[in-house]
Amino acid sequence: MSVFMIPNRTIDEIEKLLNAFWWGANSNKHKGIKWMRWERLAISKLEGGLGFKNLSAFNLAMLGKQAWRLLSNPNSLIRRIYQAKYYPKGSFLNASLGHNPSYTWKSLWSTQHLLKNGICWRLGNGNTIPVWGEPWIKYNDNYHCIHPHDPSNSQAFKVSDLMSNDKNGWNDVLINSLLDKDTSNRILNIPILNPHCEDKRIWKWNPSGSYTVRSAYKGYLQHCLSMGNLNVPGPWKNIWNLRIPHKIKHFIWRLMRDILPTRPNLQKKGIRCPSTCFRCNTDIENTWHTFFSCPSAKLCWQGSNLHSCILNLINSSDGVFNLISHILQHWTPQAAAEFSMILWSMWHSRNALHWSNTPWNPDEINLRASSMLHDWATANRIDLVQRTKTQTRQRWSPPPPRVI
Ligand SMILES: [Zn+2]
Repeated sequence: MSVFMIPNRTIDEIEKLLNAFWWGANSNKHKGIKWMRWERLAISKLEGGLGFKNLSAFNLAMLGKQAWRLLSNPNSLIRRIYQAKYYPKGSFLNASLGHNPSYTWKSLWSTQHLLKNGICWRLGNGNTIPVWGEPWIKYNDNYHCIHPHDPSNSQAFKVSDLMSNDKNGWNDVLINSLLDKDTSNRILNIPILNPHCEDKRIWKWNPSGSYTVRSAYKGYLQHCLSMGNLNVPGPWKNIWNLRIPHKIKHFIWRLMRDILPTRPNLQKKGIRCPSTCFRCNTDIENTWHTFFSCPSAKLCWQGSNLHSCILNLINSSDGVFNLISHILQHWTPQAAAEFSMILWSMWHSRNALHWSNTPWNPDEINLRASSMLHDWATANRIDLVQRTKTQTRQRWSPPPPRVI
């Protein structure tokens, strides 16, 4: 993966297999329902996904490291060979694929757009940085300075030409006459630290300025997210920070992404079933009805400790996502944990009623929620104590003096 680009078709097949496994496909010909595409699952947990690996982006980030070496080691043998063959008069960033390219070059060449997005200039003397079209303005969103009239001799006009005669400051008059006020201010705020130092390309997605696969992968995903509409704003961090079992966190995540197997959602996936709630037979069984407006659900809330807090919210909220978001953001962590456990317990009883005809019992639902939360908290405290004991036992201590 760090030298060759994996074909898109192969990556698609691998991701389909991973996705099928995640949603329950097994060797018994049970394919499972794929409730979400892999590219959405591969978004970070803080953006509404589950943080699985995006293989094509990871492949690109690994390849980018080799391409970065071509740029940052101008005297290396491999760089001189590639330059002689593929871009004798230009730079790697502007090189074309060429005729009959090798697979290695094709793989490296595919990282051009990644590097163009992640690279910016660290200003030294400004002699090698063209003013127009290069990423050098640190405080600009896209780091570029675009000339409004697109001059033909753009490459010849360097950043050093914007500096004062002694090269220790900026030429305010020239900058203000050429550029709009906002861009001028951004340039004038860039400190000229060492006018005798060479300009250098740095990696803007890493605070140290050097390329790492990790920063390239994260930066590239973030860049793709800003271009598309895959991320879903929401208090996702609050879900993953809840002190409840992991399976309940995933349940709340699915509930907020509306991918629980309620009857209308099953219908969307091509499953033939009625859409009405089988508990009350009066309304469509969407998530709002299942957990908040169904009479049987209301009985559960009435029997819980949270009843007084949640009643007003149910009456004023306009959907499951907003209601849960409000609770995650404004309730105490303990109350939000209890709320989440009741939701899960309710879903557990709903499935038991559907599949094994177990009667709906609000008291049992609340009791199961509270006892499970209590057991989990107790077990975790025990676990913490055990870890501390283990760590204490294994701690290294220096040998007595003059052992050797
Ligand atoms: Zn109902």
